[in-house]
Amino acid sequence: MVLAQDLLRANSHLASGNREILDRHGVRALNIIGSPGAGKTALLERTVEALKGRVRLGVIEGDISTTRDAERIAKTGAQVVQVNTGGNCHLNAGMVGQALEKLPLEKIDLLVIENVGNLVCPAAFDLGEDLKAVVLSVAEGDDKPEKYPATFLACGAAVITKTDLLGHTDFDLKRCVEEIRAVNGNIIIFSTSSRTGEGFDEWCAWLEDFALKGRMGRGE
Ligand code: MG
Ligand code: ZN
Repeated sequence: MVLAQDLLRANSHLASGNREILDRHGVRALNIIGSPGAGKTALLERTVEALKGRVRLGVIEGDISTTRDAERIAKTGAQVVQVNTGGNCHLNAGMVGQALEKLPLEKIDLLVIENVGNLVCPAAFDLGEDLKAVVLSVAEGDDKPEKYPATFLACGAAVITKTDLLGHTDFDLKRCVEEIRAVNGNIIIFSTSSRTGEGFDEWCAWLEDFALKGRMGRGE
């Protein structure tokens, strides 16, 4: 337990350093958390396309191994850096700090950090982001918010993905939204399909607004 606390304290220190670097460059950062297969990368691919010409995106792809997701994002033209955690089930602030050195921060408005697929411990590690967002797919079930309350509580936004599957599952969208709100009354919730584009107007408008807050903060 002492070790865990030391680890989190060291992480917080590194996260503050990341936040300082991001602030200095006027970059806003979003840390995306969700299970493997929740549709995080697909959400990002379509988001990058939708925000072209509006917001300059940078992406950090966290994975235990492979560069597959970074290759997918690179095809969209966004600046992307892959971080392989070498077995670790979450990103930590040190890994993100190293990735920041490889990104042209002066050309980025919004940095999206896709965490390792895992609905549990990524929520405990501050990476220096402005906000965490949880991604939950229709395929995973509408009962997850109350089963993983710490994650939903740590996040300022929740994105329900794969709404095109709603007719093929028992997922109750209304129930899921109510469960998320029961865990966290201050969270903003989006329903999306990265296949059909449903919900992307709202999600991307909110993201653009979120990204612009950084620029306004710098007095531009
Ligand atoms: Mg992914
Ligand atoms: Zn972990």
